[in-house]
Amino acid sequence: MDFQLSEEQSLLIDGFRKFLQRDAKPLAERYRDQLIPVEEMQRVQRAMADFGVGAGVIEEQFGGMGVDAVTAGLLQFELSRISPDIAVTSLIQNIVGKLMRYMPEPLRERYLEDVLAVNRFGCVGMSEPDAGSQVTAVRCRAVEDGNDYVINGEKLWISNGGYSDFMFLLARFNDDPVGGLGLILVERKDGYETSDIEKMGLNSQSTAQVSLQDVRVPMTNLMVPPGDAMKTLFVSLAGSRPLVSLMALGVAQAALDESVSYAQDRTQFGKPIAGHQLISAKIGEMATKIEAGKLLALKALSQVDRGERSDLSAAMSKWFGTQVACEVVGEALQIHGGNGITKEYPVEYMYRAVRPFMVTEGTNEIQKLSIGRALTGIDAFG
Ligand SMILES: Cc1cc2nc3c(=O)[nH]c(=O)nc-3n(C[C@H](O)[C@H](O)[C@H](O)COP(=O)(O)OP(=O)(O)OC[C@H]3O[C@@H](n4cnc5c(N)ncnc54)[C@H](O)[C@@H]3O)c2cc1C
Repeated sequence: MDFQLSEEQSLLIDGFRKFLQRDAKPLAERYRDQLIPVEEMQRVQRAMADFGVGAGVIEEQFGGMGVDAVTAGLLQFELSRISPDIAVTSLIQNIVGKLMRYMPEPLRERYLEDVLAVNRFGCVGMSEPDAGSQVTAVRCRAVEDGNDYVINGEKLWISNGGYSDFMFLLARFNDDPVGGLGLILVERKDGYETSDIEKMGLNSQSTAQVSLQDVRVPMTNLMVPPGDAMKTLFVSLAGSRPLVSLMALGVAQAALDESVSYAQDRTQFGKPIAGHQLISAKIGEMATKIEAGKLLALKALSQVDRGERSDLSAAMSKWFGTQVACEVVGEALQIHGGNGITKEYPVEYMYRAVRPFMVTEGTNEIQKLSIGRALTGIDAFG
């Protein structure tokens, strides 16, 4: 296994870091805890697409840059050090970009240019009020009517929902619990409505409730027919879970960076607190946890690049990376003492921003159950 970045990756990341400091950081600071307006989010995502972030993963055959999964992961990590909020929007662009290969060609033709140019945002609607970890409980229903489907239902926690022009919707086409689920494209102009959810963190990007009432879409919008949707989504999640892990670890890295300089500057008992063994040991543990989490995520992404099955590594990296990231940011708060819980210091925001990553893209409990099932062959979900 090669742990060395290629020269190309190093140059790309150096350039991206400079861009982030110059462009993304001021935007993130200006909109801390407030929704970044869609035009501003488009502008920054457009600029980042040139580095291969988000829609940059779209395959070359469709006009994209075809950025490999490891490089996409390294970029997401760097972005999340500066703004986990902007990184969530990029992640969804990445997932949408990958799923575009399942769009019927005429639909893809219609959307590709705008997605590549970041003129339009998509989102992925799986979760519902009564279908979270148990995705197969989806109730949102698509009923045939002439050449159309008429869709009714509610989706919840949809990242990019408020920004979106279209949604890849997981809907129920018949009563078969798994076989009845299909993936269909719904456009905002078809009539879905969104309202943003206020959260503990990550409020600079949209997480929305989506309502579909008698939304009529042509049958030709079907992307993955009933029966194959769950398989398609699981392949997609195996690629995106390590990215979520790297995003949480990006926040942890930023918190570690803050902690190192704080521990060097803050003096108590006649010396910098970094000179007290308990603080020094914390810094050592924090750095090691981040490194271990990153290696696990990059291993999973390198399996994606080699076309190997990666669901087990993806589940391991998602729970481990997000868990240790939350621990690291908690320790960063502790190192900052009273200052850590004030709005004046960035670790307070990081503490609120990193926590949702233990829930999104399948909770950490669900990841552990998936690993257990893979190893024992026995399902402990029910
Ligand atoms: C910031 C954010 C962004 C999101 N973005 C999207 C998105 O873009 N699209 C989308 O479709 N969804 C999205 N989600 C939804 C996310 O995938 C769900 O929140 C997640 O799958 C958990 O579902 P739930 O919230 O309903 O919790 P529940 O499933 O109700 O779980 C509640 C608790 O019970 C535990 N639990 C559940 N079942 C079991 C079991 N069998 N054994 C042990 N423990 C169990 C869970 O681990 C959790 O701790 C997002 C969520 C968040 C927080």
